[in-house]
Amino acid sequence: MVIIGGGATGTSTAYHLARRGIRNVVLVEKRFLASGPTGRSSACVRQHYSTPETCRMVLKALRFFERFEELTGGRTAGFVRTGYLLGVDDRLRKQMEASVALQQSQGIASRVITPREAREIEPRLAIDDLTAACYEPDAGYADPSQTTQGFAGAARDMGVRILEETAVTAVRTDGDHVTAVETSRGPIETRKVVNATGTWSQRLGRMVGVEIPITVCRHKIAMATWPEDARGPHPMLYDFVTNIYTRPETGNMILVGPLDSEELHDRADPDAYREGLDLDETTDLLSRAATRFPALERGAIARGYAGCFDVTPDWHPVIDEPGPRGFYVAAGFSGHGFKLSPAVGEMTAALVAEGKTPEDDVHAFRLARFAEGKPIRGTYGDWLMC
Ligand SMILES: Cc1cc2nc3c(=O)[nH]c(=O)nc-3n(C[C@H](O)[C@H](O)[C@H](O)COP(=O)(O)OP(=O)(O)OC[C@H]3O[C@@H](n4cnc5c(N)ncnc54)[C@H](O)[C@@H]3O)c2cc1C
Repeated sequence: MVIIGGGATGTSTAYHLARRGIRNVVLVEKRFLASGPTGRSSACVRQHYSTPETCRMVLKALRFFERFEELTGGRTAGFVRTGYLLGVDDRLRKQMEASVALQQSQGIASRVITPREAREIEPRLAIDDLTAACYEPDAGYADPSQTTQGFAGAARDMGVRILEETAVTAVRTDGDHVTAVETSRGPIETRKVVNATGTWSQRLGRMVGVEIPITVCRHKIAMATWPEDARGPHPMLYDFVTNIYTRPETGNMILVGPLDSEELHDRADPDAYREGLDLDETTDLLSRAATRFPALERGAIARGYAGCFDVTPDWHPVIDEPGPRGFYVAAGFSGHGFKLSPAVGEMTAALVAEGKTPEDDVHAFRLARFAEGKPIRGTYGDWLMC
């Protein structure tokens, strides 16, 4: 059994396969663990989703992050509970309320609040242009590299072999079945392969004639230092009016990322893209953040960088065995795969071990949904990542 890709998805899958007692699992990673988008992730673990499947997945994932040490033999995900606020105006108010109702029905601790209540939770907020908000007290963010190392370390303890600096160059089939992978260190015979290569997964799919519809685009992150008189912890904030998300960052900083579907047009080659931000990109993000947190007008630009998203047509992943037999895909996480990774690893391991039925949550993520004209649509329609 070979897992290709040493990000959050691949290592979580390795961990969950090993937990099921599956032997002879090998994970191959062309560079080093978390060297891809996982290592650049903002790693926000919010619960705000608007389909039943994603709500169930993210709740399961949050519970895993909360017990990460216990479940991985004392390792840490660096999970910091901050709470999560989301602010909207009238354009998305109804959708937000419907999403929260769905989340509550799935057991997520989320509630609709007034903008004034949001400011009681986070007094630095400007709320004049918000008409409603919601709050999740349990949400937080993690450390993506530590999480990946934690999954990998625990998987190793259970017998998984992890080969870094080992690139898969071909996947061999015989008839309709996987038989081996060719790697930069030689072939590995196997009847089962998991493609967990994120922004590279389309290339891996093409090795066996499977077309995974993925667009790779740049995602920008800017950071600012709070002015001295406004420092202190704050909840993660998703702002559907200025279209940004923020979370605290060590060193008295705030991390700011965009929620702009236009990012999709900033296409990127995951092996060669512009990793830095120019001044316009940085000031655009930070000025939007200062609209919501006016104290940041007196802050200082700290730094910026970009990573890549693997975006599918409906901004939801593919978790499937689309053919040939034994070729599994867990990819296309469209900018929200970190928070889901504990649940995705469990679902992918179950898919590999037990196969699939239409009753499983994994059915929603089948590749064929695009050809069937049945993309995943939540309360927000095609709004990003929810
Ligand atoms: C800047 C940024 C911020 C983000 N913020 C959040 C957030 O706040 N919350 C959230 O939930 N998600 C967030 N995401 C998305 C999330 O990080 C990703 O969805 C998730 O990390 C993807 O993990 P993965 O393991 O599927 O893929 P990856 O991290 O891309 O891992 C794939 C691995 O496969 C390896 N690989 C590729 N080809 C081969 C090959 N031929 N042979 C061997 N190995 C190969 C790569 O080297 C790579 O390490 C963010 C992403 C970025 C870029």
